[in-house]
Parts: sequence; C-alpha cells; structure tokens
Amino acid sequence: MRKEASVTLNYRFRDDEAFARKLDSEDPLAKFRQRFYIPKGTTYLDGNSLGLLSKDSESSVLRTLDEWKALGIRGWLEAKTPWFYLAEQLGAKCAKLVGAEPEEVVLTGATTVNIHSLVHTFYQPNGKRKKILADELNFPTDIYALKSAMRLRGLNPVKDLVLAPSVDGRFLDEDRVVKLMTDEVALVFLPSVLYRSGQLLDIQYLTKEAHDRGIPIGFDCSHSAGAVPHYFDKWDVDFALWCSYKYLNGGPGGAAFLYVNKKHFGREPALAGWFGYVKEKQFDMSLDFEHSKSAAGWQISSPAVLSSAPIEGSLKITLEAGIDRIREKSLKMTSYLMFLIEEALSEEPYNFSIGTPREPERRGGHVAVEHEEGRRVSEALKEKGVITDFRPPNVIRIAPIPLYNTFHEVWNVTQRLKEIIDRKEYAKFPIERKAIS
Ligand SMILES: *Cc1c(COP(=O)(O)O)cnc(C)c1O
Repeated sequence: MRKEASVTLNYRFRDDEAFARKLDSEDPLAKFRQRFYIPKGTTYLDGNSLGLLSKDSESSVLRTLDEWKALGIRGWLEAKTPWFYLAEQLGAKCAKLVGAEPEEVVLTGATTVNIHSLVHTFYQPNGKRKKILADELNFPTDIYALKSAMRLRGLNPVKDLVLAPSVDGRFLDEDRVVKLMTDEVALVFLPSVLYRSGQLLDIQYLTKEAHDRGIPIGFDCSHSAGAVPHYFDKWDVDFALWCSYKYLNGGPGGAAFLYVNKKHFGREPALAGWFGYVKEKQFDMSLDFEHSKSAAGWQISSPAVLSSAPIEGSLKITLEAGIDRIREKSLKMTSYLMFLIEEALSEEPYNFSIGTPREPERRGGHVAVEHEEGRRVSEALKEKGVITDFRPPNVIRIAPIPLYNTFHEVWNVTQRLKEIIDRKEYAKFPIERKAIS
C-alpha cells in the first residue's frame, strides 16, 4: 500500500557521545548549518513550529528592502524577481518539492485563508452528498475553517462535519477513514502529518479511495512540506496547501503556498480577487472576473512582497540540499532520537515513551515524546537552552531539522531529559501554561 523509494533504513546506533560525533562527521548535509542563524546558546529543536532564519533569507529580504528603497513602484516589474510575478515564480520553485508542475503551485495568502479559498472551491454539496470528512486529531484552525465553510452554505457542522475518530488519541487508521467515505461525503480534507503525534498519512492511498467513491480530496501539508517528499501529481491529489514558516524556514507568519491540480484549472475560484485575474489582462481593469487558468487564479490580493522575500532565500537552500536527502537525514535523526530514548529513558524513573509511529514511511519530521510531566519537562529543557514545544496532554515535540541540527544536538537533548528527571528539575515550574508553548 505504501512505498517511499528513496528511503532505505538499516541503522545500527550506539548511545555514546563519540557515536553522535561520528554521525555528524558522516553527514552530507552538515555544511548547511552554517547558513542559518542558530539562536545563541540554544539547542533549537522546534523547527516544526518555526523554522530559523537563514543568511540566504536575510539577504533576499535586504535586497527586497533595497529594491523598494531604490525603485518604488517600479519594483513591480524591475525588481530582480519582479513583484508582479513573485507569487508565481516562488510557487514554481516550491512545485519541485511537492511533485507538481510549476503552474500548479502559487505563494499566496495565509494558510487558513487558503483553506477557506480551496474548501469553498471544492466543497459542492449536492442533495444528500453534503458532508465534509476530516479527522478529530486535526489542527484546530482547519476544523474552525471547515465548520465556518459549512455554516456559510447553510449547513450544520454538528450533523454534516464527520470527524474520523482516532484509535488511541495519537494515530489515525487510514482504513477506518476510508470506511467513512460514504456517498454522503462531498469533500475529504485531511492533514498530511498529524501535528501532535507526527504520523504521516498515506496520501496516495486515501486519494485513490476517495476518487474511487467520486469524492474530491485535499490535504493540509503544513507539517510535511520541506520535511517529506510529496508527489501531488502522481498521487492525483485535488488540492493542497501549506505554510512556509515551519520546515520551509520562510519566516513567522509568512505567505503560504497552495496547490491546485491542473485538471481543476477551469474551476471558478470561490474567493475571487484581482491578483487571480489572467496575468496579461489584469490591468485592463475589467469588472468581469476572468481567472488565470493556473493555481495563480486562486490568489486574492497583491502578493505580500515583504513576507514573501525570505522564502526566496530559504527555498534556495532547500532545493540545493534536495528533498530526498533532507528526508533521509530526517529519518535517521528521528530514528536515532527514538533509539536513545528507548535505550536509556523509557523505564523507571524516567518513563518517557514514544508517541510517533516507528515505521519510517508513517512518520513526518518530528518525534512526539510523551511524559506525564511533559509541560514542565519542556519548560525545564527551555531553561537549559533546549527549545522544544509542548502539546497537551503530555507531548513534548522534538524536531531535529536536517538543514541545521546535528546528531550531537539530538544526543544532547536526551542527556538533558535524563538530568531533568534525575534532579527533579521540572518540579519548580508552575503547573499553569503560558500563552504560547
Ligand atoms: C501550522 C499549521 C497551520 C497554520 O495556520 P496559519 O493560518 O498559518 O496560522 C494550519 N494548519 C496546520 C495543520 C498547521 O500545522
């Protein structure tokens, strides 16, 4: 049912520090770390939440500021990457990462806005076929967007939004999701990787099963883009979207990406705006909307030039490293982390456990480390300069990023976890949570 050709896994790890150093010395991607700003004094393992700034992004941002300074309005056509074509050009670069053709991807809007735009485009309730199928482990904003989309169509999400249940609060069983693809379902919308457990769903299988039942299907790939190869065209996904600021290192709240399969270019974008107009005729200023027959047709507003600028630099690094090599190192790092935790930290008094699938083809880029004191352990890690994050009820998410983390940092975090339990260091932190964790 699954395959990931480039990934072969047969590691033999050891748990000593010298071995961590050895893994780093053999790492073909090690040289990319020096192109990033690593916050001083930290072991940064939170790139699945916010990727770091690279020197390449810094220079594409500074160049854009200079262009604005020097060119004013002329920047729309005369900047190095003319702003008028920026969304399409960066989309075309990102298309290489997701197995799409250049005109099937565009950099536009924001993640949740793109959910609205694409869900409204593809959700066509008709007679008894009016339900949306999603899942109960989804990221909240996706569910809020789906519920509001249904309300706007006069439908009742309590009745018509079907959330596929999880087996155990961590994972989804694809076959159980497929069973819910009934003839009452008008749209399936799922995440590629579950944000808490890190489970990677079988996108190809789910897409085929949805299509066999005549249902369009889209994916939120925020937690997999830049970490995992995608083959949207080959898998025949109808649409997808993802943010740029996690594994793609595009900067906090940066512009987002969307993919529309070329077979749907003729569909009318549900949320129309003038930047979705046929490029050559946009400035005819006609009042009748004629959308570009490409993903670019789903743009609403002018491109956010300043928040798109860092993405030019960060995509350059990702493409240079190559998504297959990134995936290979990512799996090696997460396998190593799981090995270290199971070897030394899984029993009394440590009691850490792994809440991420073991099979490489079922996991994204981070590891969910479960502990009943997870929140306070994560605080204690932060105090030691190790940045991870916590997701209720008990998950510390640890994301070793192939482009800038080292195997030694992975080893280091497990040493710090050990220390925190040995010395009960978590106990001094309050039980309540902060606004952002
Ligand atoms: C990060 C993330 C988002 C972020 O949404 P924004 O609109 O960019 O704030 C949405 N969905 C998923 C699954 C995510 O992981």
